[in-house]
Amino acid sequence: MPGYELFGAEERKEVNDVLETGILMRYAFDGPRKGIWKAKELENAIQETFGCKYAQLTSSGTGALTTALAAMGVGVGDEVIMPTFTFVASFEAVLSVGAIPVLVDVDDTLTLSPAAVKAAITPRTRCIMPVHMCGSMADLDALLAIARENGILLLEDACQSIGGTYKGKALGTIGDAGTFSFDFVKMITCAEGGVVMTNDASIYTKADGYTDHGHDHLGVDRGADLHPFIGYNYRISELHAAVGLAQIRKLPNFLAIQKRNHAALKAHLEAIPGVAFRRVPEGGDDSCSFISWFLPTAEQTQAAVEEMRSQGILAGNFYWYNNNWHYIRKWDHLKQAGALHRLSPEQTNALQQLGSSDFSVSDKVLSRCVSTAISLAWTPEQIKEKGEKMAAVIRKVL
Ligand SMILES: *Cc1c(COP(=O)(O)O)cnc(C)c1O
Repeated sequence: MPGYELFGAEERKEVNDVLETGILMRYAFDGPRKGIWKAKELENAIQETFGCKYAQLTSSGTGALTTALAAMGVGVGDEVIMPTFTFVASFEAVLSVGAIPVLVDVDDTLTLSPAAVKAAITPRTRCIMPVHMCGSMADLDALLAIARENGILLLEDACQSIGGTYKGKALGTIGDAGTFSFDFVKMITCAEGGVVMTNDASIYTKADGYTDHGHDHLGVDRGADLHPFIGYNYRISELHAAVGLAQIRKLPNFLAIQKRNHAALKAHLEAIPGVAFRRVPEGGDDSCSFISWFLPTAEQTQAAVEEMRSQGILAGNFYWYNNNWHYIRKWDHLKQAGALHRLSPEQTNALQQLGSSDFSVSDKVLSRCVSTAISLAWTPEQIKEKGEKMAAVIRKVL
């Protein structure tokens, strides 16, 4: 997945353009910046590459989720339905706007189960937030139908699935808004960065102001901008945007390599009876950043993980069930409502209930799943060696 693996002269050139002028900020300084607008250029490239009307860069993917929620008007007392399997950023963003994260089960797509979403809808539900984990996607048609039926918003967290598509459209451009992360380990990186994508002019205008202290960006004099609403600082810098600009131009190449390496490694695992793979919803095209595979039982899966560990080949294989960052089982800080500042009583109450909620459906999926990250840097010989070693481990435990 990570673009940092193919970092080079192109990124250095874009960053140097910025260093030459010394204008490291994306706004203002029109004269001294000598026509260099890397953030603006990257936003245009995102719109073109992914086919959305508007793109607003942010300082991180977490900032993009927070901005999107605020721009969609999600706030205090609103419930946001999100999956039990995601990155901690999902609930961080929801809590930061004062809303209540409602966690529901995932299915064999490793993303939101539409049935679980349906069952969790209440009169306070404002938004459904599918997270397209590990390169592939949620069943977006089913989720959009539920959202429309109930008059609620859909925000796609596509941070891990840059380059994946669903029915011909880029992930992240299908809901009311969508986000990517450009942190250091994502498909394309800015070092740190993110983007909110939308086709809705009003959501875009609000996202644009929200990331820059509420500035309306209407005049030519930044100091004279008006502030129609309260914002924060989630700006990206020109240096970060410059790295992203070089990376987005390489994305077609990254994806081609990734798909080739994915297919070559998957061939080794596919040949083993008893190994199954995550379900990609019909009409979906996986970005192939991971191969997520299942063994028949949790015990066999844990044995395979232990065997890979003892053979020293565990690196790049993620057993999410025991992971501190991505699965609810280990989110004790969340279940204890362990915030530094006071949360609303509704938030605290909802979080404390998570500790006793039944997520056995998610447990059944995640306890049998391992995701193998696909590297852009592998040689064919390395893939063959890796595939053969993994296959031997799996055959041993089955
Ligand atoms: C990386 C990631 C984010 C957050 O992105 P940052 O840029 O690291 O803040 C959000 N959601 C998911 C699913 C991610 O993988």
